[in-house]
Amino acid sequence: MDLEKTLATIEQEIQTCHKCLLSKSRKNTVPGEGSEHAEIIFIGEGPGFYENEQGRPFVGQAGKFLDELLESAGLKREKVYITNVVKCRPPGNREPQEDELSACAPFLEQQIAIIDPLVIVTLGRFSMARYFKDAKISRIHGQPSWNKGRYVVPMYHPAAGLHQASLRPIIQRDFLKLPSMLETAMKMKSSKHEVADAHQQNGEDATQLSFF
Ligand code: URA
Repeated sequence: MDLEKTLATIEQEIQTCHKCLLSKSRKNTVPGEGSEHAEIIFIGEGPGFYENEQGRPFVGQAGKFLDELLESAGLKREKVYITNVVKCRPPGNREPQEDELSACAPFLEQQIAIIDPLVIVTLGRFSMARYFKDAKISRIHGQPSWNKGRYVVPMYHPAAGLHQASLRPIIQRDFLKLPSMLETAMKMKSSKHEVADAHQQNGEDATQLSFF
């Protein structure tokens, strides 16, 4: 990964991307928005009608619910980073297809590498599938998994709470767990560094400490 890249340069690359057919029907690309120093990244599915109009993620009805959920967890939208697995709207809000997901994947990977968050929250099936193959969201929602130095937390997509009222309190409860997950992730990361420092002082190879 090119360490000189910034979120802004990736945004520009997305804006001029024609790697899949979604580029033909889009009005605006929707790279993502938020802080380059975010401790949490939220990854949704793909832009809908309003996102395609405005070039911003989660600005429609699902976005309003996401804003409520963030506020309830004491998180400011501008302090987190919000993006999607695909950066252009699938026509008619259809599901993103395999070739579209793989064409867009390097952008997401670079965004994650640059931000280096403590917690990744997947919102919905397609972002969950990146980390939890063949998992069922009803079984694993809200349960963090330690993955390459950070927590990955699968959550229901906010739109699910709009379509199915019984899911709303479940989604709300999962979001309320985020502050303590963040705190635990921070401690795990710093204890990793302490262990690595101690091993380095003892002349051992820190790269062997891959159990984290
Ligand atoms: N749904 C998504 O998954 N992403 C958005 O940006 C908006 C709605």
